[in-house]
Amino acid sequence: GRASPPLAALSQVLRLERSRRTAIVFPLQKLERYLAPGTDTARFRLFQPGLTALQRAEALFRSDRGHPIDYVSSAVRMDHAPPPALPEVCFIGRSNVGKSSLIRALFSLAPEVEIRVSKTPGHTKKMNFFKVGKYFTLVDMPGYGYRAPQDFVEMVEAYLQERHNLKRTFLLVDGVVGLQKTDHIAVEMLEEFGIPYVMVLTKIDRTSRGLLLKKVLEIQEFVKENTQGCFPQLFLVSSVEFSGVHLLRCFVAHVTGNLPNVEAR
Ligand code: GDP
Repeated sequence: GRASPPLAALSQVLRLERSRRTAIVFPLQKLERYLAPGTDTARFRLFQPGLTALQRAEALFRSDRGHPIDYVSSAVRMDHAPPPALPEVCFIGRSNVGKSSLIRALFSLAPEVEIRVSKTPGHTKKMNFFKVGKYFTLVDMPGYGYRAPQDFVEMVEAYLQERHNLKRTFLLVDGVVGLQKTDHIAVEMLEEFGIPYVMVLTKIDRTSRGLLLKKVLEIQEFVKENTQGCFPQLFLVSSVEFSGVHLLRCFVAHVTGNLPNVEAR
């Protein structure tokens, strides 16, 4: 197994000084301070769990003998998908957006979980199912790109339309470059199917605070003007620095019904 990286656990984050701690746990709120006075900040703090909720969510992502976290199976077709027995979330995004890095970060407290990556060109792209104890499943959808083959589009579409236990789709967007043409195609598909989703901005350690804030405001505006099904709060993450990962674990636990007392206001 791998060793957990630093800051993978909340207990490590809590040892940091206050400002650094906020930046790691609530990266969006950290940015909020740099807004012009009078800016409406409602969209910066819709989901704002307390420490207890963050800790309870973390416990779900920490495996032990009574709580196994396992890779279950891969599927290329819906009839190969495991039975829809548990609440489910799925992660989609362009190839190279940082999806496998993020899933690895989410599962870093379960080092035995193997995140399979099939990146070799021509290699069959599959949906990978992970089971988190008896609580929920997480699906790593194949990365899409400008050369996404038709069978891949059909697989993703079939999954999104047919999977009745799907509670939320996490659409990963590169935080450095923002929404690209293929991301807009994904948004249109999610909007057309009318399924709830949330945007996650990746690799936020790679950009400056100013440029990141500009991207956040741009994408917030896009979400407000053009979407129905997208959660208005963006989630910002860095899989390298671990920022936003604890909050994302908490949101996954919340949308799968595993944190009954946390409100997403
Ligand atoms: P995927 O194709 O979406 O699974 O993308 P990967 O997780 O393989 O990431 C693509 C590239 O971006 C790799 O070189 C990663 O090391 C890098 N990367 C992923 N996440 C981050 C991040 O949070 N910060 C930085 N700086 N690099 C990242």
